[in-house]
Amino acid sequence: MKHLPRVLIVEDEPAIAELIQVNLKHGGFSPVVAYDSVAAQRELDAVLPDVILLDWMLPGQSGLSLARHWRKQPRTKSIPILMLTARGDEPDKVAGLDAGADDYITKPFSTQELLARIRAVLRRHAPEAVSDSVTVGGLTLDAATHRIAHQGQELRLGPTEFKLLHYLMKHAERVHSRSTLLDKVWGDHVFIEERTVDVHVKRLREALGAAGPMVETVRGAGYRLTAVAAPKTAAAAPAGK
Ligand code: CA
Repeated sequence: MKHLPRVLIVEDEPAIAELIQVNLKHGGFSPVVAYDSVAAQRELDAVLPDVILLDWMLPGQSGLSLARHWRKQPRTKSIPILMLTARGDEPDKVAGLDAGADDYITKPFSTQELLARIRAVLRRHAPEAVSDSVTVGGLTLDAATHRIAHQGQELRLGPTEFKLLHYLMKHAERVHSRSTLLDKVWGDHVFIEERTVDVHVKRLREALGAAGPMVETVRGAGYRLTAVAAPKTAAAAPAGK
């Protein structure tokens, strides 16, 4: 029997949860509903889903703090999280991505959009079919084992940051626009805003630690991974501190 991707829906509104559940079933997924953070955690402890749909506003622990928590746990840290937010909560979306969500979707959304987003995060998260390893400067990435090391020291990256770094390393020293990165890394950028790229680049730099400056911002153009990061000169510092 074909494996249906398991989707954990964390949503406290029964009507919305049920609607999503029915639509996901029709869309070829295996949905499970949790109405609060306690039930969601119990579900995760029992069976790991392929993707989590996480409502922002939940009674008790918020979706944001749940996302942050799950990202820190070894068992759950690589499960893609799609946040559900209310219309117009712009700062919330960025905070959600900062907390470790892979994407967000604004309520009310169409079934078609929801299914497309879920498929997109799953595709992004799917292991690379072709195994290859690439080295730039002191940075080595092995796609087969999903390992990244900087000067021999292993680094830990989220699934989206891994794909982003993989692409940047395979095409190092070249400048990539945000829209190119969305195309090549996200693969389905119809619904994704360009600043999503900025959020993930920021997270990537943080995860790379000492190698973070290798990911350069090219003003007005995009991003580039370089083996030799430009040295910061005193002259370039902003005047009038
Ligand atoms: Ca809610």
